[in-house]
Amino acid sequence: MDSTAHAFKNNVRTALDDGKLQTALKLFPEGFPVKRRLAMDRLPEFDALRDAARDIKNHTLAHLDHYLERFESKVIDSGGQVHWCPDAESARQTVLAICRDAGAKTVTKGKSMIGEEIAINESLEKAGLRPVETDLGEYIIQLRHEPPSHIIAPAIHLSKDQVAEAFRKQHTHLPADRPLEEPAVLLDEARAVLRREFLAADVGITGANMLVAETGSMVLVTNEGNGDLTQTLPRVQIVIASIEKVVPTLEDATTILRVLARSATGQEMSVYTTFTTGPKRPEDLDGPEAYHVVLLDNGRTKMLGSEFQDMLRCIRCGACINHCPVYGAIGGHAYGWVYSGPMGAVLIPNLIGVEATADLPNASTLCGRCEDVCPMRIPLPRMLRQLRAHQFSRNIGPSSQRYGLRAWAFLARRPALYRLAMRLGVGTLGAWGRRRGRFRSLPLAGGWTRSRDLAAPAGQTFQQQWSARGGARS
Ligand code: SF4
Repeated sequence: MDSTAHAFKNNVRTALDDGKLQTALKLFPEGFPVKRRLAMDRLPEFDALRDAARDIKNHTLAHLDHYLERFESKVIDSGGQVHWCPDAESARQTVLAICRDAGAKTVTKGKSMIGEEIAINESLEKAGLRPVETDLGEYIIQLRHEPPSHIIAPAIHLSKDQVAEAFRKQHTHLPADRPLEEPAVLLDEARAVLRREFLAADVGITGANMLVAETGSMVLVTNEGNGDLTQTLPRVQIVIASIEKVVPTLEDATTILRVLARSATGQEMSVYTTFTTGPKRPEDLDGPEAYHVVLLDNGRTKMLGSEFQDMLRCIRCGACINHCPVYGAIGGHAYGWVYSGPMGAVLIPNLIGVEATADLPNASTLCGRCEDVCPMRIPLPRMLRQLRAHQFSRNIGPSSQRYGLRAWAFLARRPALYRLAMRLGVGTLGAWGRRRGRFRSLPLAGGWTRSRDLAAPAGQTFQQQWSARGGARS
């Protein structure tokens, strides 16, 4: 998927002007965040589990080469193959070669963010194959030719009317005047269409929530069962996963599973949690004849040992996104690539470069809710600040912003001068804006006043007010 992260501000304007998106986003806080809180309340050891999950991932990342090699040898023992792919292009070529060898025409897909990251659908289509998304949300956005707007709820930006419109347009074999008002009817229609695709598929591609080094298994978590049909019905199964998905043991996997669904959707467990190991064995009733794991690096080894290593603990639960006030205002497409919200604002610059994504680390109030809710205790605000520091030291971003920061840093190191400058600034703005109580436009603050007024300051700095109430001297 091509990134539009460089056009973040334009993307944001489009999102803010999109009435349907804004209606969908207004419902957002009543969904996943409430369910997560209730799930946490029901599990007193939730915080202890978060610590344990963090420690498992930290240990794994410290010995990543060892666990990946162990995983590979177990996959080979079980009759499968592992393909090491340093970047998106090599992963695409590997998947294409497997599909061609299988003589594939139709390829079913379970939801996979790595699939989005390497743009596998576009690549399969160009090669004349027919990829079919089978997760309902992914299927809907595939029909609309859109990227996902959320890592666990890819079509959360859409209303049921928009879904009905897409079905009417694409399911042309069905009567045009059929009723599609009820969500259950939409669901039944998608199920009937997808059932035929499952049966026709030659190759099934899924992502993986975890890879288990101890057994060579992959763990897949879904709520629709589409992942299981994608894995078991076609002749060939391809698992595409990034290298940091590996965990040492089955017990480690179960610890992480206990925080994953609770953090994502507030469920104790997802409806389907499937452990798959290798291709079909002689005594198995079903399963694929060939089993491939495509292991993707795509910039992750560069994060190892850096100040962004903690990001590799991410289990893609979406909790940070669900609690982010910025995501809640603009949705996921504005971020311009596969990931969104606070985890996207850290991960995207690391994977595709800080130059092309300069606005993303600044798309945060640094309120800290993302870190508070992250089951893997990833210090997202710290990493957002570090990305900002990188940008500043490499002269990335608008020069006005850099000069402003330099001026602020100069003053902040000289407390007396800082207080004087603040008094003068706040006093002047307070006097200037006293009559109206707000500014409709202001020199150097056009970005703020373009879409809202700026409240006039009270005329006194915080320190002056604090001192007047008997606090520390200003
Ligand atoms: S950063 Fe944390 S909260 Fe966000 S998706 Fe990853 S694990 Fe979940």
